[in-house]
Amino acid sequence: MIEVKNLVKKYGDHLAVDHLSFHVEKGQIYGFLGPNGAGKSTTMNIMTGYIASTEGEVLIDGHNILEEPEAAKKCIGYLPEQPPLYFDMTVEEYLKFVAELKKIPKKEREDQVEDVMRMVGITEMKNRLIKNLSKGYKQRVGLGQAILGYPEIIILDEPTVGLDPKQIIEIRELIKKLSENHTIILSSHILSEISAVCDYVMIINHGKLVASDTTEHLSRMTQGSNTLELVVKGEKNQVEQLLNPVDEIENIEWTETDEAGATGLKITTEEKTDIREELFYLMAENKMPVLKMDFKKISLEDIFLELTEEHSEIQKEEKEDPDKETKNSEKSQEAEEINHDSHI
Ligand code: ADP
Ligand code: MG
Repeated sequence: MIEVKNLVKKYGDHLAVDHLSFHVEKGQIYGFLGPNGAGKSTTMNIMTGYIASTEGEVLIDGHNILEEPEAAKKCIGYLPEQPPLYFDMTVEEYLKFVAELKKIPKKEREDQVEDVMRMVGITEMKNRLIKNLSKGYKQRVGLGQAILGYPEIIILDEPTVGLDPKQIIEIRELIKKLSENHTIILSSHILSEISAVCDYVMIINHGKLVASDTTEHLSRMTQGSNTLELVVKGEKNQVEQLLNPVDEIENIEWTETDEAGATGLKITTEEKTDIREELFYLMAENKMPVLKMDFKKISLEDIFLELTEEHSEIQKEEKEDPDKETKNSEKSQEAEEINHDSHI
């Protein structure tokens, strides 16, 4: 459906997208997850033909986005980070205008606009000026313009940013509903957003793809941890002395606990060793009751942080090495931005 090959985008010396490759299959919801500045919007803008890449190519259903923009763009509906709304138009006027831009045949326009307004739940607002709508409704209009023409792929850049919790839930429901008939790619810097909606996650950091897997698989990775979290009644040095001879322990990290007279700790063991029973008896025999003992739950958040932090370190090292710095052309960004106005 979409094939992204070795995409690079440089802004001056800055690599916003760093050799990104991936493909997108039909009928799934994909999530671009990454901190602010990771390169999500830039990637989406390139995929939709909004800006040109420095290197690499994007094929939409076999059509190169730069060589055959009309054919490629017919397959895509895009809701950019800043929705391209005209505030002085009514909802219906605006959507009719977009339908015309998208070259939807005249006969079908009216019906399609009605249908799309119903799909995104804005029919009752159709005669309102866009500037008078709440942010949630504006976002629905933005979604509406993306859906017009019923493209196979819908790309949504941070679709719930700035919305209140109720609006977020409504937009999520809408996205799920749309996924019944469309392939969806959305971006977010919020992990829970991605895990709530997406089948597939692509984690992007500093313009690089650092992980790419099903949401289910990434969640499963979060089990089977080899870190135990304990609270033991006793002084830290006594606990330390007792644990010293236990061979399976690789590392101990001391933690805070609210329990009076108790010590908190995290024990990391070798892979797949379960020393819970051994610890239980050892502590009990030495009259230091274990008040709490549990495997540490690794959340998707932890994985995300780990992946993005590891990468930051690599990035820093690269930055310190002057040989690796890339010389770059002084191409102006404006000159690179293509089809800026005609894109909807
Ligand atoms: P994200 O959407 O993941 O927050 P962006 O794609 O917007 O990230 O930005 C990626 C990087 O590229 C950032 O460091 C950002 O500052 C830089 N960048 C984005 N657009 C421009 C631009 N037009 N000119 C210069 N730098 C830019
Ligand atoms: Mg962005």
